[in-house]
Amino acid sequence: MKPLDPRLLKRARGARVFLAASVLIGVASGVLIVVQAVLLAHGIAGVVLRGSEVSAVAWGLIAVVVGRALLVWGQEVVAQRAAAAVKSTLRRQVLEHSLKLGPVWLSSERSSALTTLLTKGLDDLDPYFARYLPQLVLASTVPAGVIGWMATGDLIAAGTVLVTLPLIPIFMALIGWVTQARSRRRQHALAVLAHHFADVVGGLTTLKLFGRAKAQESAVRRVTDRHRAASMGSLRVAFLSSFALELLASLSVALVAVGVGLRLVDGNLGLETALMVLILAPEAYLPLRQVGLQFHASADGVAASEEVFRVLETPLPERGDRADVPDLRVTPLHLYDVTVTYPGRDEPALDGFDLELRPGEVVALTGPSGAGKSTVLAVLLGFVMPQRGVVVAGGSAADEFDPVEWRRQFAWVPQRPGLRMGTVADNVRLGRPEASDDEIRLALLSAGAAGLPLDKLVGEEGQQLSGGQQRRVALARALLTDAPVLLLDEPTAGLDADAEAAVITALRSSGKTVLMVAHRPALIASADRTVTVGARELVNA
Ligand code: ADP
Ligand code: MG
Repeated sequence: MKPLDPRLLKRARGARVFLAASVLIGVASGVLIVVQAVLLAHGIAGVVLRGSEVSAVAWGLIAVVVGRALLVWGQEVVAQRAAAAVKSTLRRQVLEHSLKLGPVWLSSERSSALTTLLTKGLDDLDPYFARYLPQLVLASTVPAGVIGWMATGDLIAAGTVLVTLPLIPIFMALIGWVTQARSRRRQHALAVLAHHFADVVGGLTTLKLFGRAKAQESAVRRVTDRHRAASMGSLRVAFLSSFALELLASLSVALVAVGVGLRLVDGNLGLETALMVLILAPEAYLPLRQVGLQFHASADGVAASEEVFRVLETPLPERGDRADVPDLRVTPLHLYDVTVTYPGRDEPALDGFDLELRPGEVVALTGPSGAGKSTVLAVLLGFVMPQRGVVVAGGSAADEFDPVEWRRQFAWVPQRPGLRMGTVADNVRLGRPEASDDEIRLALLSAGAAGLPLDKLVGEEGQQLSGGQQRRVALARALLTDAPVLLLDEPTAGLDADAEAAVITALRSSGKTVLMVAHRPALIASADRTVTVGARELVNA
């Protein structure tokens, strides 16, 4: 883990502004620390040696304390703002990027991981900005200023600090080295524990049914014990390490103090300078020790931001920016020799697939499960880039066109209908925002869902509707669009025979080009042509 991830500065302007402000605040803090030490030394020496008044020095000290308080306050304000700004920038960038990567990349497990990352995960950046980064800046400004000023009064003391100071980061690195493995073990134990709990709770009914619920007790206890042991282990190291660092800093200060004391007795050093050096010495070590503490507190946030950068650095498929997409109402679509192998798979999902889609025809895609039917639709939509082969329309390859313009030609009903919170009407209206209620009713009627009230709430991901109803709402939405080509992934699954007949009539009379993944005989029979995926010799038969 780097102390400061340069990608964070590159991606988020808020982080750059924050760093600049923090450096200013850090330098000001360093100056105030030195001024405070000088004033204290001057005041004490004045009282002891000359019996002088302290009021002028006291006012100066008060001003310094107020100044330091203001700086801490300012740092806090700047940090909170920066954290909020950076989090929202990163969230927006990840959302934009994953939209461009498309739904195939954003498979269901990835989308739930991404949800956690973008909500809870990124919130862990708060301590990173509020604690760690300011401390990092202080650690790189304050010791330098302190040692520099000490050198003007007492070179030997400054040299002592200069030599002992690097011991702290060295020890921190050594300790970090040891803790890394331990904290990884703890993270792992925690993940196992969480997974196990979720598993047991999720399957409690089944476990109860088969009389195995009791047996889980010991399993959970075992996992919990391991987690407890791992936690105690890392706590032990954490306490021990802060003790070691504390000791190191104290010994170093003592070393400085002994030297200063001896020279003071010898008369080689004035009392005021000696006091100044003694007051300043601990200040040189403090920021470095603090940065080590905060480093651990912000580790989760850094891990989350690394995850974010991994998403942002996923390359986008290369697409052109031509906006003159041919009108598929009159232009046929061709797929030539399309071959798709998903990342991490050995077998191609689609191997040398050819297809011609003429305007106005209804084509059924058939084939066994996993043959690559949904992949054909994803290729047409540009969500998957084939490793070999092309999609051609009007003499140009599809990837020359701007993907957004290209997709305007298509309405897509995926296997999972993808409804969102709101009413039935809201969801259908996504197809054409300016559609009237009557048009929506008509679309629902065509989709075989005449009985569905427009103002019925669909719930999150359409959970308040049955599977068949969700599919019909999605179909109505697709029918409502102006897109000339409909891509339907099993549009009549979960529909009864009457509804299916209504859908078939609607598809046939829509005048649109239809490419549909079909299993049911009635749907297949309604097509002009059937194309089988996964069996090369049968393609276009
Ligand atoms: P069908 O729709 O015909 O059932 P798909 O096109 O969904 O088939 O899938 C074809 C093959 O590609 C299957 O073996 C499937 O497991 C695999 N596949 C589909 N989507 C992905 C993906 N996002 N990542 C990896 N493999 C995938
Ligand atoms: Mg499929």
